[in-house]
Amino acid sequence: MKKTVLHIGLDDIDSPEGGCTTHLASILVEELSKEALEFIDYPNLIRLNPNIPWKTRGNGAVALRILVNENSVDRVINKVLHVVEKYIGEFSKEKSQPSAVFLTGNIPSKLRWFSRKTVKDIVPINLAFKVVDKVKAKAISFNGKRGVIGALAAIGEPLDNTDYTFELIAYRVEENYGKPRLIVKESVLKMDKLFGTQTFLNVDYEIGKVLITPHGPDPVLLGIRGENAEIVLEAFKKIKVLEPIERWVIFRTNQATDMHLAEVKYVKEIKPYMSVILKGYVYEKPKTIRGGHVVFSISDSLGDTISCIAYEPTGSFRNIVKQLIPGDLVKVYGGTRPPSPTHGLTINLEKLEILRLAEHIAYRNPKCPKCGKTMKSAGKNKGFKCPNCGFKSKTISKICIKIPRKLRPGLYTPPPRAFRHLMKPLQRYGKEKKTPPKNIIPKWHHP
Ligand code: ATP
Repeated sequence: MKKTVLHIGLDDIDSPEGGCTTHLASILVEELSKEALEFIDYPNLIRLNPNIPWKTRGNGAVALRILVNENSVDRVINKVLHVVEKYIGEFSKEKSQPSAVFLTGNIPSKLRWFSRKTVKDIVPINLAFKVVDKVKAKAISFNGKRGVIGALAAIGEPLDNTDYTFELIAYRVEENYGKPRLIVKESVLKMDKLFGTQTFLNVDYEIGKVLITPHGPDPVLLGIRGENAEIVLEAFKKIKVLEPIERWVIFRTNQATDMHLAEVKYVKEIKPYMSVILKGYVYEKPKTIRGGHVVFSISDSLGDTISCIAYEPTGSFRNIVKQLIPGDLVKVYGGTRPPSPTHGLTINLEKLEILRLAEHIAYRNPKCPKCGKTMKSAGKNKGFKCPNCGFKSKTISKICIKIPRKLRPGLYTPPPRAFRHLMKPLQRYGKEKKTPPKNIIPKWHHP
């Protein structure tokens, strides 16, 4: 019997009140495992543009990729739709626009292009439908069509020529939704000690906060992010969980890869909601504004300037930012916020690379040549006078001193608690992957 690859994309299943696209994917994995088909990859969790205003949480979409008998494709699609509909009936709320997209065969380059655009930019719904037509995909939406964008984009990013990581996500039983998550903190700290080089964003030591558990009423109990599937599973086994686990699944994902960032040369290339890397000179020195946020601006080689902001939740990162002075050569990384009546187009800082420090020169009043005390201005254009011995001089001028810089060139990131899904932590530098795992044996556990 001839077989074909069927890609299943899902998005916008979730709402702030409950439900979650990855949770539905984990249920589908269980249902599809009962069929005569083969998963050719771990379920893929593809994070899309983190700056879009209408995301519920982390703008994540999921793709399942299976090898199936050609004549079973329609039956499998119907089964998927049946499970999706049932899930939506239980969990999805008014504002979500759940969608499922199906594609058989290889992934056309047009679709790959669309996916990268969806990770980096805002895409209109009609573009998604144009691509659906062009690549002969099948898109089914419930309650509005917006979810098709993410579901299609997930299919088009098979993580085969790019960096990737893994996340094991464990889910709660429904009775516990909304209740505090019962995880023993010490076991997370222990796990982090054991696997901290191969897993990431487990704990924020600056404030002693465990980061593997979300806080909302959603079905996710915990997520462990790491470099490979074996490690996240080993790390998971070390966590003491004092509540029932409904199921867990290991996703292969573009999280922690910086896939969203696009290097731009000039400010004029930057559009709202993009995520960019821009090199420039610090133009206006950082100032702390209401709420504890720190703002400064940089200028590009054309002299155009743009504001950059390190928000209060970026904690100690702001202490680095505050030490910048005009003339420092930096690279700023971050998502752009559209202009408003109170501010211009602004880069929300995710990372800061200090390339070259300017000299910090300050001017001080001179010392009195007679008694050595610090002189004072004698008035505009009148030189200096000594408050101690009365010596006056019109020829003495201010002395220029070089203030040592405490800051060092290098790459700086906010503390782990301020990380968003796509941001690459420092510890991942040098661990980037270029090819998919050799032996793909998807791993999950259902009751
Ligand atoms: P969760 O993290 O829990 O999965 P979410 O943050 O993914 O939630 P969704 O409810 O999926 O949020 O909403 C995101 C919506 O935005 C989806 O409908 C998706 O199709 C759409 N979308 C995603 N990326 C883009 C983009 N780049 N341009 C336009 N629309 C997008």
